[in-house]
Amino acid sequence: MGVMGARDRVWAMIGRCDGEGLLDLAASIHGHYCPGLALGVLAGAELVRQLAADHAGMEDVIAVVETNNCFSDGIQVTTGCTFGNNALVYRDIGKNSVTLARRDGDGIRVTYDPVAMDGLRRRAPEFEAMFQLVVRERRGNEADLIRYSKLARENALRVLNTGSDALLRFEVTSVELPPLSPMHDTLICGSCGEAFMASRAVDGICGDCAQADIPCLDGRGIRCPGNSKT
Ligand SMILES: [Zn+2]
Ligand SMILES: [Zn+2]
Repeated sequence: MGVMGARDRVWAMIGRCDGEGLLDLAASIHGHYCPGLALGVLAGAELVRQLAADHAGMEDVIAVVETNNCFSDGIQVTTGCTFGNNALVYRDIGKNSVTLARRDGDGIRVTYDPVAMDGLRRRAPEFEAMFQLVVRERRGNEADLIRYSKLARENALRVLNTGSDALLRFEVTSVELPPLSPMHDTLICGSCGEAFMASRAVDGICGDCAQADIPCLDGRGIRCPGNSKT
């Protein structure tokens, strides 16, 4: 169990294979139920079990995710490797895949079987039709939205219940991890008066005041706004 105990509830859910509980927890930060989230929960829980990777969120276990979509929220909740605790490394290649590794770099990478996922999709025609209407075309009425959210949770549970043997592929791997995150001093920007990490200073002031090209992760991936890549 984790040293601080803050995540004991999650480790226990993983230990007793409470996929439904983990899915509900993940949906509470993700905001909706979807197959990608379910796949992330399934993958993350299985990786934690296989690596016995319960930890205290101090960068002793690192997740390297390869997508910034729904999948990654399932990974953050189940593995405890998050954007905020610096145990989440993001590689911008757009795959629903993740590697969970110990500090020495030894880990397990998991990706999903697209044929198996496609088979699941074809066996849920009502969910797919409602997904098209409500999510892709954004033209569902209130009754459609209610029906869709019920179907979405059922469908996510179906992904979980289909299980990792059928949907996921695992490989033992070794990854190059960044060193432990340095602790940075805080500086006060002489121009705007806001506090910022010393490591981000540009000409002694904050990046915004220096009008630096700040890399940004949004729905399009990691970009520099000054760069025309979209
Ligand atoms: Zn989603
Ligand atoms: Zn400033």
